[in-house]
Amino acid sequence: MKIAHITSEAAPWCKSGGLGDVLGALPGAQARDGAQVAVFLPLHRAARQAAKKHNLTLSTTGVSATSRIAGHDVTGHFLSHTDSNGVTTFLLDCQRFFDRDGLYTGSDGRSYADNGVRYAFFCQAVLQAVSALMGGAPDVLHAHDWQAALIPIYLRHAPVPTVITIHNLAYQGMFHKDLIPAIGLDWEVFSPSCAEFHDHLGLLKGGIACANAVTTVSPTYAREITTETFGHGLHEFIRHNARRLTGIINGIDESEWSPEVDPHIAQNFSATDLSGKWACREALQAEFGLRLKPGEPLLAVVSRFASQKGLDIIADIAPELESMGAGLVVLGTGESALEKRFAWLSSRFRRVSARIDFDVPLAHRITAGADMFLMPSRFEPCGLNQLYAMAAGTIPVVNAVGGLADTVDDQVGFRFGHANVDGLRWALHQAIGRYRYDPSGWNRLMVTGMRRDFSWRQPARQYMRLYQSL
Ligand code: ADP
Repeated sequence: MKIAHITSEAAPWCKSGGLGDVLGALPGAQARDGAQVAVFLPLHRAARQAAKKHNLTLSTTGVSATSRIAGHDVTGHFLSHTDSNGVTTFLLDCQRFFDRDGLYTGSDGRSYADNGVRYAFFCQAVLQAVSALMGGAPDVLHAHDWQAALIPIYLRHAPVPTVITIHNLAYQGMFHKDLIPAIGLDWEVFSPSCAEFHDHLGLLKGGIACANAVTTVSPTYAREITTETFGHGLHEFIRHNARRLTGIINGIDESEWSPEVDPHIAQNFSATDLSGKWACREALQAEFGLRLKPGEPLLAVVSRFASQKGLDIIADIAPELESMGAGLVVLGTGESALEKRFAWLSSRFRRVSARIDFDVPLAHRITAGADMFLMPSRFEPCGLNQLYAMAAGTIPVVNAVGGLADTVDDQVGFRFGHANVDGLRWALHQAIGRYRYDPSGWNRLMVTGMRRDFSWRQPARQYMRLYQSL
């Protein structure tokens, strides 16, 4: 089976969240199962920098693509890199569109005005080059999120099967309808059953309408997005298309997120020997300048600062950590109001220590060194951090939505049912009580989570069965 993934993020090249992690790991799992897998990615500036940093060689392919887009002839060249699993990543080098400070937003925090044109060019270039680069047409084109949603739209009358994965329905790629002729689309797509949404062009919506199959990243989220609460205005449309929708849970890259081999942490450890976990905990407290007494747990958050993630709920509860007898470390970037609030909490309360940064090695040290990982998300398509936490014996405390509901049960963590301060406080009282008064029960939670299979093996096979059904 020849599989082409089309995405705007893939670790280790560039990532802003879970999308990058998924595309850094799923292709390798599929290749290990015998598929020929290619990943198509724009050569964002971050990807060029990652190549230098990680010594990833980029070879020229001699394949380029030219499109007339928004009134200009634009050309890009594909570079390639093949990894140890045999997955080839083809990176589209087009400085005009991709050599920028951020992936989607500038340093002022605003989305680039030409995002629709940038990713339309990317999709057109992939379609021009895919057969030449893969030595023949792929058996399936698997597009991810709105940035690649034009793939199934452009191919809507072609015989090649397409799949689109919704990693987060909150980001729909909504543009002014003037974009339609500028990116070579026919007005026929501008209908309520396809890409039209309140007189705008909705790329993700159009991709969902045109793909042969639609997936999202957990079974519960697949159900939730058919409801008004979680559907971001698309619930009725999704319900109408539900026949083609499946939820496949994400896995984790065990070469990256296993405490047994993780190179970023103070000391490696496993379910059979947890001594390294205590060394990581000590090191983390020292790094964040926290001093906890025996019986006082260390809580952690690593997150984009977006309202989805419920960081405001954590900030609201932070002053209560003194009476709860717990410490909190926070790593994240995003909405500036939240950044400021955590910087203030950090300076005001001795039990809170926050770093406003995007720092992957630090995310590893926190995940391995903490006792509990907090995720009071208002919605969560899958969530990866709770999986990374459980693999490292760090107990997740989560609002039971989406993938959090599918992956965290009371054998491995603590769940609550409302994304608000009362919900989180209630769950924290349960969790801190267990931590303090029932160490052997706590140990059981840790070891059970560490022994669960969160790998990509099962999900990769589910995707394969889906491709075969097409
Ligand atoms: P989302 O994709 O909604 O942001 P996920 O839980 O699916 O959420 O994935 C988030 C990924 O991004 C994880 O790998 C997480 O460790 C990483 N991440 C988020 N914020 C930071 C940060 N400030 N520094 C390092 N890694 C981060």
